[in-house]
Amino acid sequence: MKIVMKFGGVSVADGESMKRVGEIVNRFRGEGHQLVVVTSAMHNVTDSLLDIAAKAGKGQRDLVLEFVDETRRRHAESAKTAIADSEALDETLQAIESKCEDLKNILLGVAHIGELTPRSKDFVIGYGERFSAPILRGVLRDLGIESEALTGGEAGIVTDDHFGGAEPLMNVTTLEVRQVIDPMLEKGVIPVVSGFIASTQEGTQTTLGRGGSDFTASIIGAAIRADEVWVWKDVEGLMTANPKMVPDARMIDRISFSEAMELAHFGAQVIHPKALESAARFQLPFRVKSLSRPDGGGTLIVKEVKVKDGDVVKAITNIDDVDLITVSGASMVGTPRLAARVLDILTDEDVDVLMISQSSSEENITLAIPKDDGSRAQNALELSLLGSKQVREVSIEAGLSIVAVVGAGMKGTPGVAARVFRTMAENSVNIRAIAQGSSELNISFIIRKHDAAGAVKALHDDFRLGEAG
Ligand code: ASP
Ligand code: MG
Repeated sequence: MKIVMKFGGVSVADGESMKRVGEIVNRFRGEGHQLVVVTSAMHNVTDSLLDIAAKAGKGQRDLVLEFVDETRRRHAESAKTAIADSEALDETLQAIESKCEDLKNILLGVAHIGELTPRSKDFVIGYGERFSAPILRGVLRDLGIESEALTGGEAGIVTDDHFGGAEPLMNVTTLEVRQVIDPMLEKGVIPVVSGFIASTQEGTQTTLGRGGSDFTASIIGAAIRADEVWVWKDVEGLMTANPKMVPDARMIDRISFSEAMELAHFGAQVIHPKALESAARFQLPFRVKSLSRPDGGGTLIVKEVKVKDGDVVKAITNIDDVDLITVSGASMVGTPRLAARVLDILTDEDVDVLMISQSSSEENITLAIPKDDGSRAQNALELSLLGSKQVREVSIEAGLSIVAVVGAGMKGTPGVAARVFRTMAENSVNIRAIAQGSSELNISFIIRKHDAAGAVKALHDDFRLGEAG
């Protein structure tokens, strides 16, 4: 098989973890697969680069040297732990050294001017992946595997110039990625590609947005028509519920892209939604693989999953710490623009609306949003809406959770909602608001936060998700 393997920040957090990555790659290569490796930055490195970039942008020159020293130390130390062969190690240390020199000069330049543009910011924060890829290449060479380290741009990923969240231009990208990667695979060379970073057509570095290495893996997978993309994680796979909440939660063997996206939306984000979206578009199967159990099949995410009889619900998920905002006013009736306006205001404020429901009397609109955005959202809505005659009040309630019941089998199966709410009633859980996606892939509702663990467990039991399918 042709497989793109993506390793996240935690899987390359230090030298020991990088060694384990080498073992995993070696082993599946030994089974005869053609592999492309995509790596994130070492754990927390992107955050620290963002931080120093901001400080440099404020002219704080003195912090730069110390930061670069610490960055050099961490990467060099990991390389020394992970790579035994002296030639491979030397080469890796040299790569780290020259990148540190570049990074230092760029940061000093930013500090000198005292301005961080979106373009220079993308350049700086992409360094994490510029360091980790050559170290992994060194690890593979240490194991006698021929390998090349490439930035996303060198691998052929071409994007627009929307810095901070660039979009790939898939036609050019497909051609270029194939031109670079295919010949390597034919020669048995393993490309190690820096995730997260790409390049405009003019060659300026861009980033794909936070957590974007998953997206890199799906872009490359789509371009080279990989059989599967494997995302290695420190979890078993996608689970029927949060195992910390529900001890008998099980791993889900197969799930569809749309179900996985619902789970991601409601808090169980194992794979970046953009990666899922593009994988679904290109019909590229994704597999979540467990770092501690590489033999296991993990969770396979595919276009469509046949729903077995009686198998209506796949997973119960929840988001704690949400606020409920209610916009009410008698004269909202029949004013369709208002809902749109409310959403516009929140979009302008960058508030993520997790759930929305409207009473059929159209007397009020209720929105669930993350707790941290609560008062900001309320203020913005009050400022814009209270003067109008339509809206009487914008109220907020805190200390709530969303619970979502997810599964493609709910579609056209009557009685699922009744069963969900009966179970909640039997457990004396009071429901504050309800929404069902018109896709019928989920039923979600809002309850008090301190009821959430019990509610999730009761639903998990009622739908027998803990029993082997
Ligand atoms: N290193 C980047 C980030 O922390 C991309 C990634 O990890 O996927 O956001
Ligand atoms: Mg990630």
